[in-house]
Amino acid sequence: MTAATSTTATGSLRERYAAALMPNYGTPPIALARGEGCVVWDVDGNSYLDLLGGIAVSALGHAHPALVAAVSEQAGRLAHISNLYLHEGQVALAERLLGLLGADGRVFFANSGTEANEAAVKLVRRMQGAGRPVFVAAEGGFHGRTMGSLSLTGKSSIREPFAPFGVDVRFVPYGDADALAAAIGPDCAGVFLEPCLGEGGVVPAPAGYLKAARAACDASGALLVLDEIQSGIGRTGAWFACQAEGILPDVITLAKGLGGGLPIGACIGIGAAGSGFSRGDHGSTFGGNPIACAAALAVLDTIERDGLLAHVAEVGAALSAGIAATGHPLVAGVRGSGLWLAIALTKPVAASVEAAARQAGFLVNAVQPDAIRLAPPLVLSDGQARSFTEALPGILTEAAALAGQVS
Ligand SMILES: *Cc1c(COP(=O)(O)O)cnc(C)c1O
Repeated sequence: MTAATSTTATGSLRERYAAALMPNYGTPPIALARGEGCVVWDVDGNSYLDLLGGIAVSALGHAHPALVAAVSEQAGRLAHISNLYLHEGQVALAERLLGLLGADGRVFFANSGTEANEAAVKLVRRMQGAGRPVFVAAEGGFHGRTMGSLSLTGKSSIREPFAPFGVDVRFVPYGDADALAAAIGPDCAGVFLEPCLGEGGVVPAPAGYLKAARAACDASGALLVLDEIQSGIGRTGAWFACQAEGILPDVITLAKGLGGGLPIGACIGIGAAGSGFSRGDHGSTFGGNPIACAAALAVLDTIERDGLLAHVAEVGAALSAGIAATGHPLVAGVRGSGLWLAIALTKPVAASVEAAARQAGFLVNAVQPDAIRLAPPLVLSDGQARSFTEALPGILTEAAALAGQVS
């Protein structure tokens, strides 16, 4: 441990972080102390409008009374039981998810996105057997950081240092239906796709792409896995992004927004895929624990009770239009739907835009060198969205100056 030399609370925490934490994230720029709704405060008392929501996680914002009550009540009753016993919350949550999907199926609960995808990889393997060893996934896709999910992640800079994986993956360009169909042969067990690339920069699939994927899988007997870990649970203004495309996959994976900030993941097997695992095939000590399930039920209840799907569509459209209307030379366009948008930039200055936005009191994410991701809480108000679009021209001009200084 080194003695802190910084004069601010943020600075001294950053020094302690750098000395005690592994360097895999770098040292984050600010240290957050509390939040309320869509606003967070750092340890020096500065406030920020949170337009990232913990990467599309804090669906109800921070310290939402429904989430606080559900989690506190459950923690005071029964925090953990393992999966050797059952509890009503897990059953109720599985029933709710299947109901929202409008499909027959079964649910497995995990603790994170990557674990939900690991479950999906094993489920597909189990159902297809050794005769179909190949998985198909998209270049630019992201499915997680554990070895199975990472093997399917189409960003070579984060995947290749950790090869080999023991999973045979064929990568195809995202959005090209013909290339996808050509890659799905009789040796193919399953196809993993995001309905819209999230980490790839909020890049929606072209219209009809998911339908074509469904048809190609049906023609070859491959299983279609849709990774809705970022897109699911209201983010796009629908419960699930695939519902807007009018298709059902064989497997859907969820995490991020489902727990509203509590760690939970889900792997939903639809139809026959719901029964692909036999007793003993998979498990998780913490998966679907009572506190995480109570949080997820509170998230679903609140989205429903407060009409948040319609709200997301409305505020998201206004936010998107407001960004486009700035007409700033750094703005190439806006992508995405609902409260899941990317500001496409005309220059690779996203890191400077993120920094300038933070200086101006807004948390946004440089998801790609030339794209800024917005994934705010689903409760973002019209006024909060407007405060950002009004500040944006100034932020972009400041970012251009910052970028000029560093280059
Ligand atoms: C975030 C994300 C994951 C990984 O989730 P973790 O909880 O970080 O493991 C997987 N797939 C997609 C599409 C994601 O956005």
